Amino acid sequence: MIPENLTAVKAQIHQACLRHHRAPEAVHLLAVSKTKPVAAVAAALNAGQRDFGENYLQDALPKIAQLPEATWHFIGQIQSNKTRDIAAHFDVVHGLASEKIARRLNDGRPKDRAPLKAFIQVNLVNESSKNGVSPQDLPRLVAAVKDCQNLQLLGLMAMPPATFDLSERQTFFTQLAVIRAQLADQFSLPHFQDLSMGMSDDLETAIACGATWVRVGTAIFGARQPQEDD
Ligand SMILES: *Cc1c(COP(=O)(O)O)cnc(C)c1O
Repeated sequence: MIPENLTAVKAQIHQACLRHHRAPEAVHLLAVSKTKPVAAVAAALNAGQRDFGENYLQDALPKIAQLPEATWHFIGQIQSNKTRDIAAHFDVVHGLASEKIARRLNDGRPKDRAPLKAFIQVNLVNESSKNGVSPQDLPRLVAAVKDCQNLQLLGLMAMPPATFDLSERQTFFTQLAVIRAQLADQFSLPHFQDLSMGMSDDLETAIACGATWVRVGTAIFGARQPQEDD
C-alpha cells in the first residue's frame, strides 16, 4: 500500500507543478510518519522516499536509530527540554519560533554534524492556539538565527487555521511567500529559499503559491490513532 500511496501523492504534486508552472524538482515531499511504526518508514524508504517528518520525540528516536540513512525532520512544537535530543538526532526542524530555542538548538548541535537546518514557523493569524513567531517579531528572530553557527536557515513554515477555505489559504500562503522574499532581501540570505507549507488537502494551493516542501502523512501511511504529546 505505502509504495502505491507514495506514487499517487508524487503524481499529485507533479500535476500541480505542471498546472502552476513550477519546476517539479523544486517541490519536495516530506512524508509525515509520526506515530507510524518503523516498518512503515522502511517501506517508504525502500520505495525511494528520503525525507520523513516526526512530531513526537520519544516516538521518533528509535526510528531514527534504526534508519539513520533517512533524512529526519522535526515538525512539532520544539519544547526547551527537548532541544538537546532534537539537535543531536534530527537533520531539519520546521517549528523554530523563538530566540531561546534557537540558542539551545545551536548549543546542542554536535560539532561533528553539519549545521541543523531550520524553518522558522510564522503565526500569520495571531491565533493564540497556534505556534509560531508573529510577523512583527520575525526580523529579530531571523537576525538571531543568522548568528547561530550551528543552524542553517532554510526558510519559513506556516499552517493555516483548519477553518480556512482554499481561497483563504491561498491568501495565507501568498503572504508567507512575500514575507520570505522580503527577509531574504533584507538580510542578504542566499539560502533562505524554502517554504514549508501545504498538507494533504491544500497541497495544490500551496504549490501554486510557491511551496518547496509539502508535508503529507495520512495519504501515504493511512489514518493515525490519536497521540498524546510526549
Ligand atoms: C501531522 C502533520 C502533517 C501531516 O498531516 P496529515 O493530515 O496526516 O497529512 C503535516 N504537518 C504537520 C506540522 C503535522 O503535524
